[in-house]
This record gives sequence, structure tokens and C-alpha cells, in this order.
Amino acid sequence: MKTILGTLQLSVAHDSLRRRLGSQLRRLRWVLLSWLFASSIIAAELKTRNVFLLTTDGLRWQEVFTGAEESLITKENGGVSNTNDLRAAYWRPTPEERRAALLPFIWGKLANEGQLWGNRNKGSIVRVTNGHNFSYPGYSEFLTGVADARIDSNDRKPNPNVNVFQWLHTRPEFQGRVGAAVSWGVIPWILNADVARFPVWSAFDLPAGANRFALSPPVQTLLDRTTPMWGDVSLDTFTGAAAKEMLAQIKPRALYVAYGETDDWAHEGRYDRYLHAARNFDRFVGELWTLVQSLPDYRDQTTFILATDHGRGPAPIAWKNHGKAISESASLWLGVLGPDTPALGERSNSPEATQGQVAATVAAALGLDFNTTHPKAAKPLPQVLKP
Ligand SMILES: [Zn+2]
Repeated sequence: MKTILGTLQLSVAHDSLRRRLGSQLRRLRWVLLSWLFASSIIAAELKTRNVFLLTTDGLRWQEVFTGAEESLITKENGGVSNTNDLRAAYWRPTPEERRAALLPFIWGKLANEGQLWGNRNKGSIVRVTNGHNFSYPGYSEFLTGVADARIDSNDRKPNPNVNVFQWLHTRPEFQGRVGAAVSWGVIPWILNADVARFPVWSAFDLPAGANRFALSPPVQTLLDRTTPMWGDVSLDTFTGAAAKEMLAQIKPRALYVAYGETDDWAHEGRYDRYLHAARNFDRFVGELWTLVQSLPDYRDQTTFILATDHGRGPAPIAWKNHGKAISESASLWLGVLGPDTPALGERSNSPEATQGQVAATVAAALGLDFNTTHPKAAKPLPQVLKP
């Protein structure tokens, strides 16, 4: 009797132990499976580990999508002395040939493997929403996601809004891995460089307390020996060089490069130099792309986002300017190229987009949601990242 009872108790105990073990094993298996599932979702969702935002000031969508405009390749409208040379460089019979001559990387690579938004002739609309159509409000709108009515000048004032690079830099995985190189001297204020504290290169003063990135001595010497063109915009050559040196030194996971010449040559009424500056912007972007594809930590893991702060007026006169009174200067273009971007190319009849959507798109490309902490920022662009 005792042994039967003992065997029974033992088998009961054995059974409950087996059940307990079984349920623990099932739980463990569930945890393992869900962990594997989650990480495979993350892996399948995004290959992007780094985002570069590259902008050129006030480049019109007209040149991006149709190339050089014939009525501006003149002395009278475009300030062009040598029209033969300019025509040889950029004039072609069709818009497709003209835009490829002006922006060969964008049309040869980005428009094939990524997406280009903003061709109004094909129903793709990208807009400024701040109503001003000039620089500080525009940069602020695409860097912070917010069109802020308080921002109504280009003065060197702190930005009341948090930008996406500043926000990224507060995250441990981005500490020391964010940088900006800018041609226009006001951008460090728009970026809140003093509060953000990531390295910033500008040829001009920075807000007190900002973290200045130093050029290598040979490039700094070249800059010092170059005749300044404008009081607060340096030549894009140096911004391009600063971006490459920043890439080598701080290995940014989030880099902002702001080229500026396109706007200034247009204001001066020099269509030839405006086109050359646009051609060089394309070169800088293409060279940076080739460079990142040569680096193991960046190859096939880097998304480029291209944008501008405002458009400009139409030919033959208003192309030189932009602003509230020139409604056409609210029209923009945008480009995205990277391992997670569906190759939809030149978009037609795309969802209407605003420049404010750039900020949350920078974060989204990295798998992050800018809108959780900044609900007023515009939502990420749809369809530019694989679902
Ligand atoms: Zn301007």
C-alpha cells in the first residue's frame, strides 16, 4: 500500500513537474520565436543605418525636371555673356536630355533607383507651407517639420522648434554621430547648434557654445586664400570638402549638408553661374554617394534625402527672386535614394507633399518616429520607404 501510494505521489509530482516544465518550455519557445520574429521584421523593414540630408538653396523644380531654360540663356534675362558655351554645356532638344546634362547623377542614378518628387507637369506637387518662401522659414520647416508663423526673418535668432538632427543627437546611439556642414551662415542658428552640440562646419561665426568642426589645414588655407563672394554664404566647394572630412572623422549616422550657391547666383541674375552651381550640387551628391558606397559601414545602409528651402519665380524676370509675393516660389522638389526606397523614379500623380515632411522622413529612414515626441511635425512622406 505504502509503495503504491509512494509511486502514485511520485507520478503525480512527476506529472506536475512535467506540466510546469512543459509550460515553461512553451513560454521560452514563444519568447524565442517572438524575438526572432521581431528582429527579422526589423531586419526586413530597414537596411538604413545612416541618413544624409543634402540641400541646395533655392534650386527651382523647373531646372530639376526640364533642365536649362532657353529664354534665360541670354545676356538680357540671364546675364549670360558667353551663350555659346552655356548652350553647349546644358542646352539639348528635349527636357529629358537637358535635365540629364545638368544633373547627371540625379537623373542617371537617383531617378532610376530612388524617387524624385515635384514635377508639376506630371501632377507631382511638393510645397512650402510657411507662406514666406524664403530661407529661414523654409530650412526651419524641413528641419523641424513645423511651419512656424513666428519665424518671419532671416535674422540669426535661435529656433523655437527642435530639429530632427538635434533630436537624433539626444539618443545614445547617435551621440557623437551627427554633423552638419553648411554654406549659409544663418543655418547654425536654425539648427540650434549651441543647444544641439553636434559638430557644425560653417565659414562664419557660430552661436556661442556651438561645437565647431575644424577643416584640415590645407583646406582651411585654400578657404583663407579665396576671395569671399558674399557676406554670409561661402562657396559650395568648401562645404563639399567639409562634408567629406566630417564623414572621415566623426563617421556620422545623420549628416546634414547645406549647399548655398544656387540661390545667390540667381539673385545676382547670373543664370550661367546658377546652372554651374546646380551642376556642382549634383557632383557633390554623386561623389558623396560613391564615397559612402566604398565604406563598409555605409555601403547599402545609407539613405540620401535631397531637398531645397524654397522655389523661385518664373522666367524671364522673377526667376531671380522668391518670397511671399511670388506664389510660384512655394513649389519644390524632393529626392530620396537608399536601400529601403522603392525605385518608383520620377513620380507622377504622387500624394501632395510638403517640405515639412522631410524631418519625420529623416527619422523614419532610421526606423524612428519623430512624431511621438513632436506631434505637430508633419508626418513622414508616404511611399518613400518600404512598408
Ligand atoms: Zn534667396
